[in-house]
Amino acid sequence: MTSHAPDSCSNRDVLKGHSMENTENTATLVEEAPALTTADRCDSCGAQAYVRVLLESGELLFCRHHANENRERLAPIALDWHDETEKLLAR
Ligand SMILES: [Zn+2]
Repeated sequence: MTSHAPDSCSNRDVLKGHSMENTENTATLVEEAPALTTADRCDSCGAQAYVRVLLESGELLFCRHHANENRERLAPIALDWHDETEKLLAR
């Protein structure tokens, strides 16, 4: 009696969630991004920007607060995520 035959087809269902497969490849396109300056302002609130997000449609600048707020939504589609928030912690 074979009560538990090997079922190779059932493994495919586990691999469905692979939508983030190309996020690593696009990140290598940007080798050298210029540093943010005090003239760079958050697009949401106007505070000094510490994060620059490069999207296919253009760039977005965020302060630390709004970068955290938008990270979940933008990170999967961002071509580059330039984060200088460690400057805030360093001083
Ligand atoms: Zn902001």
